[in-house]
Amino acid sequence: MGSHYRLTCLHCGKLFDDPQEPFLLGCGENHPPALLRALYAEQRLPVDAQEPGLFRYRRWLPIRQTWPAAGNPVVFQSRALAAHLKLDALFLAFSGFWPERGAALESCSFKELEALSVGARLPQGERRTLVVSSAGNTGRAFLQAFSRQGQPALVVVPENALPHMWITGDRHPEVRLAVVRGGGDYSDAIQVGNRIASLPGFFPEGGARNVARRDGMGTVMLAAAEALGESPRHYFQAVGSGTGGIASWEMSLRLRQDGRFGDWLPRLHLVQSEPFAIMRDAWDRGARELPAVEEQEAKRRIARIHSPVLSNRHPPYALDGGVFDALQDSAGKTYAVSCEEAGQAGRLFESLEGCDLDAAAEVALAGLIRAVAQGQVGRAESVLLNLTGGGARRLIRERRRTRVHPDVEIAGPGIGEGQLAESLNLLQGVRS
Ligand SMILES: [Zn+2]
Repeated sequence: MGSHYRLTCLHCGKLFDDPQEPFLLGCGENHPPALLRALYAEQRLPVDAQEPGLFRYRRWLPIRQTWPAAGNPVVFQSRALAAHLKLDALFLAFSGFWPERGAALESCSFKELEALSVGARLPQGERRTLVVSSAGNTGRAFLQAFSRQGQPALVVVPENALPHMWITGDRHPEVRLAVVRGGGDYSDAIQVGNRIASLPGFFPEGGARNVARRDGMGTVMLAAAEALGESPRHYFQAVGSGTGGIASWEMSLRLRQDGRFGDWLPRLHLVQSEPFAIMRDAWDRGARELPAVEEQEAKRRIARIHSPVLSNRHPPYALDGGVFDALQDSAGKTYAVSCEEAGQAGRLFESLEGCDLDAAAEVALAGLIRAVAQGQVGRAESVLLNLTGGGARRLIRERRRTRVHPDVEIAGPGIGEGQLAESLNLLQGVRS
């Protein structure tokens, strides 16, 4: 595998046939920041039904191998919630733990799709440690997927994410957790993670710039196309970085080019959590630039949002191929809902459909409820609601979860190089 795709820069168009390094994250030219995108040899959605989990779409994933124990996104038509909202064609994409629906992502997050795809992009035999920064869900997904595979990884999280760090099954000894103390938030964890990744023996996952991260998450749109027989007219998701929104848009472009799933792009409806909704603020003003929010003010607002995972202060919004372009190309809309609306949405879902949602998925549903009330969605139009996490309370009841405690303590986001290296010494000592 590997020759089934090329990468192209969305700013200058430079093409890469077979990148030698595991993760090419940018074109290297001196121009404004831009994402790379995978160009697949297959023009029509290729489905390899015998492959495990999301790897049924392996020819539309930028990967070098497949991993055996892989889950997949599940898409089904809603009855009870659809009737409540008076929608005739409401489809739910559920990524989490809901065995009755065939959903078996035990990290209870769609970020497990991204972890599997990123892991499968690695060359076989890669023993350096991949560094991934996370606000919570991504880190948990990497702990889960990389432990199962025995692939080295270091997850870097802010301290408010620690309650969300757990795993089912055993943690592999080379899969480790670092915490940034001292009031650090997600953006601080990204910055510390980047510094660690530049040290010998480590390399960066790359976040939104990693094409495998985006196309792994984008398999939700492919599963939807298979379930509906066409692309949905509307797509709802909660966003913190917006990478899932970009990913869905990119897969929609490929489906449109395929020709069998309709000549339209699903309209992106991206939902943020009040009072920290900088992408909503920018999009409402029609601006490509995010509003400038002073760091302490941003952290104060982030402390009050419904889900800490929706908290990136530097989302990939303005760059070529980023959230602004995805919204513009799909005639998208943005929302910001209150914690109260999100909590109500979660209770409604559990009573009607019978599964608990994680906080970000509650935000997404609250956005759909708002959009329906505003008349943004026609009754007969197909809607895909991406429920990006759920089922965690079920795992608690079944006593399947084990807390993961940090292996590395980083005193604060601003610590010096010497202190950072010292924090990691313990880790390297354990590894050697
Ligand atoms: Zn370029």
